[in-house]
Amino acid sequence: MIQPFRYIFANTIEDLIAYSKEDNLLFLAGGTDLVPNLKHEVRQAASIVDLSRISELQQIKKEADGSLRLGSMLTLEQLINSDLISGKYPELRYAAMRVASPQIRNIGTLGGNLMQDRRCIYFNQSFNWRSSFDLCYKTGGEICHQGLKSEVCRANYYSDLATVLYVLHAQVSCIAAGKPELLSIKDLLQRHADNNGRSACEKLFIAEIIIPARKGHGFFLKEAVRNAIDFPLFNAAGSVEFDAEGEVARYTIAVGAISPQPEYLTLTAAEMLAAKRSKKAMTEDLQAKLMQIALEEIKTKAVPILEDNITIAAKRQLYSALWPYLSALYSENY
Ligand SMILES: Cc1cc2nc3c(=O)[nH]c(=O)nc-3n(C[C@H](O)[C@H](O)[C@H](O)COP(=O)(O)OP(=O)(O)OC[C@H]3O[C@@H](n4cnc5c(N)ncnc54)[C@H](O)[C@@H]3O)c2cc1C
Ligand code: SF4
Repeated sequence: MIQPFRYIFANTIEDLIAYSKEDNLLFLAGGTDLVPNLKHEVRQAASIVDLSRISELQQIKKEADGSLRLGSMLTLEQLINSDLISGKYPELRYAAMRVASPQIRNIGTLGGNLMQDRRCIYFNQSFNWRSSFDLCYKTGGEICHQGLKSEVCRANYYSDLATVLYVLHAQVSCIAAGKPELLSIKDLLQRHADNNGRSACEKLFIAEIIIPARKGHGFFLKEAVRNAIDFPLFNAAGSVEFDAEGEVARYTIAVGAISPQPEYLTLTAAEMLAAKRSKKAMTEDLQAKLMQIALEEIKTKAVPILEDNITIAAKRQLYSALWPYLSALYSENY
């Protein structure tokens, strides 16, 4: 049952700055993630601030330097339909298209997708189901049912868009406890992971996501039980950027749905760049070496938990799906 709360409309960003200083307050965007969590009583707040009236958060702006500023209240459907996104960052569009269902994409927002609660089979349950267990870190207790020796919540993060925004080196313009801040997407999600593993409300509001101009291209990969509605079992994104001479300047690879935030595969990307600069062809030996590095990096960074639809061992098998995408990125074979 949803507990009573004060319902407030914010009409301007200034309203939000004022509200974001308050304790025990939550922001409501499309509600597709928050409302079920309120019903399950895993999230509660004294006040809920509805963001839907702030029109400046629903815009996409292209800056003179080619970067894009995406308002946090853009729906996933608006992102999918934007020519600016499909022209420059088709992998971001594809990731948005792979989220949930048309109904959820029509109302679910970019900000809500990034700030969605981390998921766990002991958390995404009704009050009655959970009442046979002690409270865990994420619901106000001091234990984790996923790992009895764990000192933190291990719930994993399943945003598809965040993994792509990692490789696009996005920055996030936020208001934290009433003050403006510019964070890298990685720092934002690290902070969100730390706070989201606890039951207190987060005092951070996302205004815009800024994507720098890119001379290059990339991919998005998602493994899920079904092609629609399901959260990712594993996702990955990669990007290659070129310098003014057309030479490869940087590879960036990130994976998601394996831990409380997306993870960069920095060693794999560095090895790919070194091989490219030495003008190595994609031989079987190079393939095997790169994949071994990638699998080792994922294994080191993964925070395995019990999930509904897959065993930990079967999930590890999915990581190999990355290989053809890395190979295509290296060979520029699109
Ligand atoms: C059935 C189902 C399937 C799904 N499948 C996928 C999937 O495959 N891939 C995937 O990536 N996601 C998936 N999702 C998650 C979905 O993308 C999110 O529910 C949606 O994007 C959240 O957006 P919202 O506007 O509804 O957020 P809300 O539910 O309103 O908010 C979610 C959280 O974000 C916070 N929040 C919202 N906006 C802001 C802001 N601007 N600043 C700070 N905090 C904010 C809220 O306080 C709340 O804690 C699925 C969800 C459902 C219900
Ligand atoms: S990972 Fe542990 S602390 Fe986090 S929600 Fe699950 S059981 Fe609770």
